[in-house]
Amino acid sequence: MTELFRLEAPYREPFTLRCLDFGAGPIRVALVAGQHGNELNGVHALNLVARSLRLSKLNGAVRLIPVVNTFGLDHGTKRWPFDDRDINQAFPGDPEGSAVARIAHALLEATRAEVCVDVHSGSPLVCELPQVRAPLAGREVTLARSMELPMVWRREGDRIEATGLVGAWREAGCAALHVVGGRGATLDTGFARVLADGLLRLLRHLGIISMRVEPGAQLVDTTRRGVSYHYSNVGGFWVPEVGVGDRVRPGHLLGSTCEMVGGDMLEQVRAEREGVVVTMRRYPVVHAGEQLVRVAESVS
Ligand SMILES: [Zn+2]
Repeated sequence: MTELFRLEAPYREPFTLRCLDFGAGPIRVALVAGQHGNELNGVHALNLVARSLRLSKLNGAVRLIPVVNTFGLDHGTKRWPFDDRDINQAFPGDPEGSAVARIAHALLEATRAEVCVDVHSGSPLVCELPQVRAPLAGREVTLARSMELPMVWRREGDRIEATGLVGAWREAGCAALHVVGGRGATLDTGFARVLADGLLRLLRHLGIISMRVEPGAQLVDTTRRGVSYHYSNVGGFWVPEVGVGDRVRPGHLLGSTCEMVGGDMLEQVRAEREGVVVTMRRYPVVHAGEQLVRVAESVS
């Protein structure tokens, strides 16, 4: 473990940004998780990748940063706890700026690589099918597909704003991918394993490792056109009937919103298209207008 950056803190141990380096030569791949302190599946996924890399002979260097927002992790908060700023909106950062700006600057400087991946979870309210988000076309789509994660989501202008890490990497000429899986504030060991295996397949695709990784179950390869969004029309208690990864057909009952007291039915939400449930609200208390479910089908 190497310390990349240190920032004195007012009344505690200093903040430190630490990395795990594997292989020799210039860094070809940088994997980052834990920019958001309550998103834990990526932290575990990167530690699983580290476990495999310790046993592998590498052709090229890989840098892992499993945790960025250590103080947020301590507090269970997404953002930097002292000023409630989002590290992932502070790029390219500033070595003379606020704490968050300094961390962003140090992180970007430490991760300029040929291929870069930033791993997140959904919010604590929703569960996301493990997925990789890429632009609509280009080398990143090939890299995304090589991960064989359950979902490849090609998105117009995905994270091209350079205030996010993925956008800042792209601005710097790196191929950059945004990976999301599971739910915030929880650890899903199964999804973390899926994410780790996807990252190992990417390293294998790049010729950095030769270890065999089981093929992944790719369910959806889509764009926005292939995704249906379901929002709540009422406030109440949301009871899901399906989970992420389930296949549904038009009319399939996705869940119901009921009266909080008494359980009377207020609204049933049904699938509009054939596809796979890729996002499911897991926190049952909903207000009108909030997102409940996303269903996606593959489109070219
Ligand atoms: Zn996040």
